[in-house]
Amino acid sequence: MSPTQLTGMTLRQARDGLLKKSFSAVELVESHIDAIATHSQLNAFITETPDLARAQAVKADERLARQEGGPLEGLPIAMKDLFCTEGVRTTAASRILGNFVPPYESTVSANLKQAGAVMLGKTSLDEFAMGSSNTTSAFGAVINPWKRRSDPEARLVPGGSSGGSAAAVAARMALAATGTDTGGSIRQPAAFCGIVGLKPTYGRCSRWGIIAFASSLDQAGPMARTVEDVAMMLQAMAGHDPKDSTSAPIAVPDFSAALTGDIRGLKIGVPKEYRPSGLSSEMVKLWDDGIDMLKDAGATPVEISLPHSKYALATYYIVAPAECSSNLARYDGVRYGLRVEGKTLDEMYAKTRAAGFGTEVRRRIMIGTYVLSAGYYDAYYAKAQKLRSLIARDFQQAFELVDVILTPTAPTPAFAIGDNDEDPVTMWLNDIFTVPTSLAGLPGLSLPTGLSADGLPLGLQLIGRPFDEETLLRVAGVLEKAAAFTALPPGLGG
Ligand code: GLN
Repeated sequence: MSPTQLTGMTLRQARDGLLKKSFSAVELVESHIDAIATHSQLNAFITETPDLARAQAVKADERLARQEGGPLEGLPIAMKDLFCTEGVRTTAASRILGNFVPPYESTVSANLKQAGAVMLGKTSLDEFAMGSSNTTSAFGAVINPWKRRSDPEARLVPGGSSGGSAAAVAARMALAATGTDTGGSIRQPAAFCGIVGLKPTYGRCSRWGIIAFASSLDQAGPMARTVEDVAMMLQAMAGHDPKDSTSAPIAVPDFSAALTGDIRGLKIGVPKEYRPSGLSSEMVKLWDDGIDMLKDAGATPVEISLPHSKYALATYYIVAPAECSSNLARYDGVRYGLRVEGKTLDEMYAKTRAAGFGTEVRRRIMIGTYVLSAGYYDAYYAKAQKLRSLIARDFQQAFELVDVILTPTAPTPAFAIGDNDEDPVTMWLNDIFTVPTSLAGLPGLSLPTGLSADGLPLGLQLIGRPFDEETLLRVAGVLEKAAAFTALPPGLGG
């Protein structure tokens, strides 16, 4: 098989090929290491680990030869640089952690290792996962492999915060990748890069060893090129972990078995509030086409109401910064990473944090500190918590009527690097369709179902009941087949 055939496979095809001995894990990994070099201008990785990957591939081939090994044995994947990896630098894309080498492994990355997956390296993200563009990384912006037809020179963002993972999977540098999603950071970059991304139910995957942004929202999940591939990844990543008190003691079902292709009789919720007048006609059509595809497959669309969703963005941008200001207090120049000396202890703290954190992180810490301060706590934080409950209740009521909800993933296709940088609020609007799900702790999946007039991928989001990723995957599988999205970024066969 040629190198591009090896990198162009799905995770499932690569798994089958390894089992059939059509190629070795070493060959598979080498072709991906080459692809990473070929696409280095996309800047998707902060740290590449080719030697580690080669060593893991050799071991994988040995296990495969003995007919041993896990369900992802020998399959090369990329790891968002927010997961602590033992002995491998982990930065959260921040200067403050620039040289941090964790002495331990996160549970999710350990689970993937246990399943046999080979790690190619650590992918870039917005600093501390705060952002929607991957432009706030201390290691430079990541570039989306997709191009506008009308302006192929424009460098587009891959979305964020898991932008490096999305670009790596879309550009065939990795078969799959991990992401984390606090308010949309798996789903929006998946939509911008034309791949599938799944944010599981809060508690489905352990947060242990993932650098914290907003602990009540953060959730790890898979990014891959097909619905089946995200099911395979989630299978390995998920599970109860006694080391994370918010990890759910719930059995992990067989996610691949959920892809029955049969959605007859299911009810698909279409929230009327998610159709603001400003939504582009292109996006409205994508959504309507998606509804029709599910209808043709035997499901019934039902209009639902999520009346408090209009407060979700405001609620999220109080809750998330509040938790971030508390979580990021630990970067004080004493325990981790960067230290800038000062004449006093206070001066050392201030100088370290001023030098270590970028603008967006500082903005969030300031907002968070403000909304938690004694005089404003009730006015902002306590009110946001109440709204969060109301937003979750809207979903609960909707799920009495429907089985899944279908919405767009993001309001626009990928934008150019630099767009929205001047205005944080416009940037935050990217999250309008994804944050309500996060606040309610529900699973959400984005999959590509069409191209914009300018040749860029567009995604639809499916939202499910808590811990019902199976129905989500089942419906996504049917939508994937009906939409038959086969376009590739230019230069990769498209
Ligand atoms: N874009 C959102 C934010 O900036 C979501 C980030 C995320 O999910 N990590 O907070």
